[in-house]
Amino acid sequence: MTTVTVTPATGNEHLLLDLLNSTPVVRGAERDDLDDTIAWQQWRADGEDTEETAGREMLMAVRSALQAVVRGEQPATRLEPFLRGVRLTPAVTAAGVTWHLDCLSRRLVAARAVLAWDLLRQTRPGRLRACANPACRRFLLDRSKANTRRWCSMQICGNRMKARRHHASQADRPDSSG
Ligand SMILES: [Zn+2]
Repeated sequence: MTTVTVTPATGNEHLLLDLLNSTPVVRGAERDDLDDTIAWQQWRADGEDTEETAGREMLMAVRSALQAVVRGEQPATRLEPFLRGVRLTPAVTAAGVTWHLDCLSRRLVAARAVLAWDLLRQTRPGRLRACANPACRRFLLDRSKANTRRWCSMQICGNRMKARRHHASQADRPDSSG
């Protein structure tokens, strides 16, 4: 077992979003960017004693489970295997409460991603969601006051979807051809 002080939520948030967004669709084909993720780098730092293949498989499994849960395609019980054997222990000081995450080091990254998802579910309900572009496999965390963000990125999907709508409305016009 390895005991780890839970890092500030923002650190885990970043790890989670980065992992969720590591299967982008590039020129119509899905690409796997797992090797470039913070989660993979962290796993390699934590779990040197384990086979890389096993680590890769675990991260791919937690990623697809989280993607399915965030999309609402699967219940949160899909995430249970990644929290097996994980324990959160409070340490109370004069300044407040710190939580220590206890688990096998090779499971640590997956547990952190799941805990980050759960914290967002509680503290920012509905803010973590899939990009509204159906051809896009990315996710976004809406931090805006109005909570009206629809695209993973205005540059990538926002402009593309607007252009598509524009073309569609032009084509609908009876006199568009002439
Ligand atoms: Zn997108």
